[in-house]
Amino acid sequence: MKRPMFASIGPFFLNESRCERLSMKVIPLNCNHCSAPLEVAAKAKFVTCGFCKTRLSIQQTGSTYSTEVLEDLKEATEQIARDVEAIKHSATIERLDRQWERDRMSHMVTNKHGQHSLPTKGGAMVVGGMVVGFGILWTVIATGISTAASSMGAPGVFRIIPMVFPLFGVLFVGFGIFNIVSMLKKSEAYESRHRDYMQKRRELVSKQRQLDDDS
Ligand SMILES: [Zn+2]
Repeated sequence: MKRPMFASIGPFFLNESRCERLSMKVIPLNCNHCSAPLEVAAKAKFVTCGFCKTRLSIQQTGSTYSTEVLEDLKEATEQIARDVEAIKHSATIERLDRQWERDRMSHMVTNKHGQHSLPTKGGAMVVGGMVVGFGILWTVIATGISTAASSMGAPGVFRIIPMVFPLFGVLFVGFGIFNIVSMLKKSEAYESRHRDYMQKRRELVSKQRQLDDDS
C-alpha cells in the first residue's frame, strides 16, 4: 500500500517550524512526567508538555535546566505547610503544659510540716474538721471543769480563769470553720483552673491528631 504523501513531508514541516523558532533562544528539556523532549524559550518559567499535557515548572540550576510537575511542587509545598503547622501546634501544647505547671505550683498549699500539696475538698474537711472537733471537745471539757470549779466555790481569780477557759475552744471552732471555708475556696479555684487547662489541652490534642491524619 502506497503511503500518503503528506506523511513523508510531515517531518519537513516540523523542521521548518523549528528553524523559525531558532530566532529566539530555546533550551532543550525533557518532560519530568513522560520524559518527552520539549523545547522551551529560555526565559519561560512554566510549560505544558505537548505530549502528556502535564503542567511543568522549569527549574534552573546554573546552566542546567530541568522540569518539575507542578502538582508535585504544590504537593511538596502543602506538605511543608502542614509539617510547620504540626510543629507549631505541638509547641503550643508544650507551652500550655509548662504554663499549667507554674499555675499548679501557685495553687499549692503548705501544711504545718512545710509540705506542699494541692488543695482538695476532702483535705479541707479532714483538717478543718479535726480543728473544729478539737474545739468542741475543749469547750465541753473546759465548761465541765469551770462549772465544777464554781460549784465548789473557788475564790476570786480561780472563778474568772475557768470562765475564760472554754472560750479558747470556741475560738478553735471558729478557726476550724474559717479554715474549711478558705480551703474549700482554694480547692474550688484550683479545680476550675484545672478543668480549663484540661479542656484547652483536649482541644489542642484533638487538633494535633487531625493535623497528623492530614499529613
Ligand atoms: Zn509529558
